Amino acid sequence: MRDHIGNRAVVLGGSMAGTLAARVLSEFYQEVLVVDRDTVLGVRTPRKGAPHTRHAHGLHARGHLILEELFPDFTEELVAAGAPVGDLGEMRWYFNARRMQKVHTGLVSVTPTRPVLEYHVRERVAAIPNVTYLQRHDILGLMSTQDGSRVIGARVRSRDAIGIEQELIADVVVDATGRGSRTPVWLQELGYERPVEEKVKIGLAYTTRFYKRPAGVFEDTWSINPVASPQHPRGAFFGLSTKDTCILSLTGILGDHPPIDPEGFVEFARSLPVPDVYEGIKDAEPIDDPTSFGFPASVRRRYERLKRFPNGLLVLGDAVCSFNPVYGQGMSVAALEAMALREHLRKGAPVDPAAFLRDVGKAVDNPWEVAAGGDLAFPGVEGKRPLKVSIGNAYMGRYQYAVSKDAELANGYMRVAGLMDPPTALMRPSVMLRVLRHNWRKPAAEDTAAGTSQQPGNGPDVQLPKAV
Ligand SMILES: Cc1cc2nc3c(=O)[nH]c(=O)nc-3n(C[C@H](O)[C@H](O)[C@H](O)COP(=O)(O)OP(=O)(O)OC[C@H]3O[C@@H](n4cnc5c(N)ncnc54)[C@H](O)[C@@H]3O)c2cc1C
Repeated sequence: MRDHIGNRAVVLGGSMAGTLAARVLSEFYQEVLVVDRDTVLGVRTPRKGAPHTRHAHGLHARGHLILEELFPDFTEELVAAGAPVGDLGEMRWYFNARRMQKVHTGLVSVTPTRPVLEYHVRERVAAIPNVTYLQRHDILGLMSTQDGSRVIGARVRSRDAIGIEQELIADVVVDATGRGSRTPVWLQELGYERPVEEKVKIGLAYTTRFYKRPAGVFEDTWSINPVASPQHPRGAFFGLSTKDTCILSLTGILGDHPPIDPEGFVEFARSLPVPDVYEGIKDAEPIDDPTSFGFPASVRRRYERLKRFPNGLLVLGDAVCSFNPVYGQGMSVAALEAMALREHLRKGAPVDPAAFLRDVGKAVDNPWEVAAGGDLAFPGVEGKRPLKVSIGNAYMGRYQYAVSKDAELANGYMRVAGLMDPPTALMRPSVMLRVLRHNWRKPAAEDTAAGTSQQPGNGPDVQLPKAV
């Protein structure tokens, strides 16, 4: 065991980002305390503090590799627990109603439900002797030195009837409380600037329903994903969640939300540009009622640009950036940030918040470019469209057409979607030539998989897929 950097690290929030941070911190602090308002241990179902976890979640290849590194044999454990597993390129992807070439990418995708994935991660972390979960406690605020230059702990209150308040003294406090993080307010209270917030309003909603596995639907794949695009803004993630059950999350943007009444839900599925999803559920036996989750905007907090930041405080996960979830990036970015934290801790001294937050900013850059830039391809989404974004989106529309013809291009696309390669990998001259060659042969407008009204090369479309 190496020398400890400090006695105690307190992690605020015990969801994916907090739990991964705790795993890493446990190598360097004598004690790691993870605080969450919910009962989180032993839980395999969605909980109040994380209602989004009821909806389709896929772990990208990069996130999967990091989990495997942090938790050896993690994939085997999930498979033994009944999680569906396969190659990312062997899911059935549709872009603009055209099916992507099936391709073996070597990128593993394991797709239990999000609460089950989180359960397995958390059980591993909770089993580390110096990690403790303080459950059912509300986080009230930070404690700091009088001059505000250093955060020295957090105040929490038990959710039990008596509601006892505690002060948790810590060498470092890590905020992983998600999108609703109070760090901007806490910074202001301590006399610091708040981070600039960038927002892309997408007005998205997911509506999700579970079914018993329908016969004959998942024979050649375990996941069917017509991805939303400007021409077809309604999308779906339809996949096995166990070997006997499946999940369908329908997505709609800019207020065109999938209904929660069962008939409306089925009708929305029928309106998708490919028939696979509707055909898959029309006779399937539902397990529950549809439920909805609204996601008004992607939000990025620019902590890396702050000139001053208190020592003893770090921020990561959705608390820094919450991406439009259809790109399926949030958990993998949280994993990348946990690895960045580990790199900083390996220097053997308390982490310099400014340097760490710069690295968090770097981890967010590419996924943000993909998600925020991609959302601007939808004409109704407000925001400036610099030339780089417009050209990038126009090119991606052509790339997405090309993946219906070309397995090698499909492989490259999956690698970028899986956060294995940066988006620039799709812009190499040899790749661009290949994309353009396919587009010279592009068929007439009506010739799409579903006979929809898509025009050839008619504008931008950059939705990169998520894995379900
Ligand atoms: C509909 C939807 C679908 C998504 N799909 C994907 C996907 O396919 N792939 C992917 O990688 N990502 C996906 N994401 C993103 C992913 O869910 C998040 O990136 C991920 O949950 C990491 O978030 P986090 O741990 O930072 O925060 P959260 O998951 O929001 O967790 C925050 C935690 O802090 C606790 N907490 C908050 N405030 C307090 C307080 N005051 N007191 C005590 N406890 C508190 C909460 O109880 C919770 O446990 C999706 C998101 C949504 C909304």
